Amino acid sequence: VTPILEVKGLKKYYPIHRGLFSKSNEYVRAVDGLNFHVNPGETLGIVGESGCGKSTMGQMITQLLDPTEGEIWFDGLNLTELSKEEIRRTRRDLQIVFQDPFASLNPRMRVLDIVAEPLIVHGLAKGKQLRNTVIELLETVGMGEHHLDRHPHEFSGGQRQRIGIARALALKPRLIVCDEPVSALDVSIQAQILNLLKKLQGQFQLTYIFIAHGLPSVKHISDRIAVMYLGKIVELASRDELFTHPRHPYTEALLSAVPVPDPTKRKKRILLTGDLPNPANAPSGCAFHPRCPYAQDLCREKEPVLDGTEHSVACHFPL
Ligand code: SF4
Ligand code: MG
Repeated sequence: VTPILEVKGLKKYYPIHRGLFSKSNEYVRAVDGLNFHVNPGETLGIVGESGCGKSTMGQMITQLLDPTEGEIWFDGLNLTELSKEEIRRTRRDLQIVFQDPFASLNPRMRVLDIVAEPLIVHGLAKGKQLRNTVIELLETVGMGEHHLDRHPHEFSGGQRQRIGIARALALKPRLIVCDEPVSALDVSIQAQILNLLKKLQGQFQLTYIFIAHGLPSVKHISDRIAVMYLGKIVELASRDELFTHPRHPYTEALLSAVPVPDPTKRKKRILLTGDLPNPANAPSGCAFHPRCPYAQDLCREKEPVLDGTEHSVACHFPL
């Protein structure tokens, strides 16, 4: 298979300003050299604690943020080198669903306006046809015509997320970045939204990048999973491999934080000690070493790199 998306050496650095007139050459390395691909029709889960750069990565892929460095290849085009016109076109193919889909929208917009907006912006429909397209989109996500004139605050979290998904579907995208779309929802509602996303993926041949802060949220929806730590991928493997044979100590720690239904099956519990280090001042060598129970001298001196195999891991002493 030819990947639909390929990310090479992707970085996003923010300069640190320590005073009004200080010129700084220090940076927060929010995303620090990502390499991965996504195959058409699959879901790549991306997991990491808040501040690990996963949302920044999602926003660069959907062209909401410019990378500092690196390439993003989508369907044979390098997104970082496109003309304005090409960007307009690829924007339709690459959509994002946020945790709170209405955070950036005017609360007085009706559901009709919210879902119709991308269609209007791209000049794809108007009048009666626009209205009918919106109704169709709402039905696709399990909502009805009677919701058209209502406002976001009249809906539950789950319904709001359905409307957000309808809006993302409006332009018939090929890849959707789902940035923690269920993190704020009750567990029972989470399952409904995940099932909806699964169903839509089959119906419209969608490719997903599914971002979450914990492994349980990506377990059922992902084909492969990348674990991120301080702007880098530390492990990338198929879902089953990652859950049954984690190789990076950080992945192991994330997994051991997941409650196991049968406690006798738990081998040992590794606790993540200490806070996530400040990304402006990342530890030397392996950035995970201050929290790693297996750290040795080499870990403090030399940075391990992702080995690029089927089950790749960035660790000097993988499990
Ligand atoms: Fe732990 Fe060393 Fe591996 Fe880093 S390289 S995860 S410190 S064992
Ligand atoms: Mg985030």
